[in-house]
Amino acid sequence: MISDMQRRDLRHVWHPCSQMKDYEEFPPIVIKSGKGIYLYDENGKAYIDAVSSWWVNLFGHANERISDALAEQARQLEHVIFANFTHEPAVRLAEKLARITPEGLTKVFFADNGSSAVEVALKMSFQYHKQKNKPNKTRFLALSNAYHGETLGALSVGGVGLYNEVFQPLLLQTIRAEGPDCFRCPFQERPESCNTPCISIIEEKLKRHREELSAVIIEPLIQAAAGMKMYPPGYVSRLKQLCSQYDVHLIADEVAVGFGRTGTMFACEQAGITPDFMCLSKGLTGGYLPLSVVMTTDEIYDAFYDEYETMKAFLHSHSYTGNPLACRVALEVLQIFEDEKYIEQIQDKGAYMKELASQVFSGQPHVGEYRQTGMVGAIELIQDKATKEPFPSEERVGYQIYKIALEKGLLLRPLGNVLYFMPPYVISKEEIQSMIMIANESIQQYLERRQDQLKVLKK
Ligand SMILES: *Cc1c(COP(=O)(O)O)cnc(C)c1O
Repeated sequence: MISDMQRRDLRHVWHPCSQMKDYEEFPPIVIKSGKGIYLYDENGKAYIDAVSSWWVNLFGHANERISDALAEQARQLEHVIFANFTHEPAVRLAEKLARITPEGLTKVFFADNGSSAVEVALKMSFQYHKQKNKPNKTRFLALSNAYHGETLGALSVGGVGLYNEVFQPLLLQTIRAEGPDCFRCPFQERPESCNTPCISIIEEKLKRHREELSAVIIEPLIQAAAGMKMYPPGYVSRLKQLCSQYDVHLIADEVAVGFGRTGTMFACEQAGITPDFMCLSKGLTGGYLPLSVVMTTDEIYDAFYDEYETMKAFLHSHSYTGNPLACRVALEVLQIFEDEKYIEQIQDKGAYMKELASQVFSGQPHVGEYRQTGMVGAIELIQDKATKEPFPSEERVGYQIYKIALEKGLLLRPLGNVLYFMPPYVISKEEIQSMIMIANESIQQYLERRQDQLKVLKK
């Protein structure tokens, strides 16, 4: 039975990341409210928001501290033009970000979503080289299966065919290097012990294209949309060395992994590096409002700083640049991190989640690997454990299990044959246990159903 709200939605709304025809059988779930890790639909059914509403939520839905900060700011100043004007929430946020991000990232450029932050970093890198009399440095190097957002520049550096294949004629000609693949490692290494021989693949590209390369862009530690591919920090630190050696910028796209997701405030900390640009968004406002920033160095900033007539200014603006509501909310988020020692909590809860999930999922015949970094967990489903043969993509195994889990009140997400969760940090250990158990039951139920169908087909 389809509800009135669902019917009205389908008449006018076009949803992201969806084939709308799928909604005929599976209409959108109408969420009325949220509290903590739970979302409640129009019938009062509760769902554990195990994907933090796509990485953005950190401290639960309808968080009182954040909601109060937002309401207070809304009564004082909701927005003001950001060219020639400023305000306290933006200034304080910039100060704080400069303090907590890796040493040397002193300048903050505001935008309003992750893709825009990526656009800003690409444009700044390009213009920097132009102004430093290196006009041939016009290209970007990115990893295969990278995901950096879906505006045209961001899609250009992205490598997931599902998103950019159809738009190829419109995109920049990005140079691509095969990235680390620790589950199917071509060098037969184990992530715990490896010294990243796969760096040689990107090194070769850097060497060959150094004259024309402006920047390399990566998602440090976790290539999310690629299927939650996780790789060791050593790769990031070696890449940073290579970038310096070949005079190419490094853009760390921490839009997804920033703000504690990998177990440290920023993923780059684990590699002990300062990139030339760091893109941040998603968790920045704890899931409240769209906001992003690009952090960069004095060296980059100085290349744009000159008399007006030199035309060296960086021209990139959004109507909502530096929105005071979003900045005030971000400040509250960072204050909560400090007051409640969330990095320690993430490490503690993450360790518990990893131990339990590894134990539970390792018993499943079709789980090739359970992997986890910080509080991001991923289950890779495979047809055959010995050969690591994947399920055929037309079976949409991940999507089928996702639907079963939803019926059971758990919102996780599929990426092909990979299921993943990264719950809000306010989750309790009991709730972590429920999340893992429901995920496991859903996988089991799907596989049993599949087995039965195969039997019928054989008869
Ligand atoms: C989500 C994401 C983006 C894009 O951010 P939007 O706010 O969705 O535009 C960019 N890079 C990475 C790594 C992301 O995960």
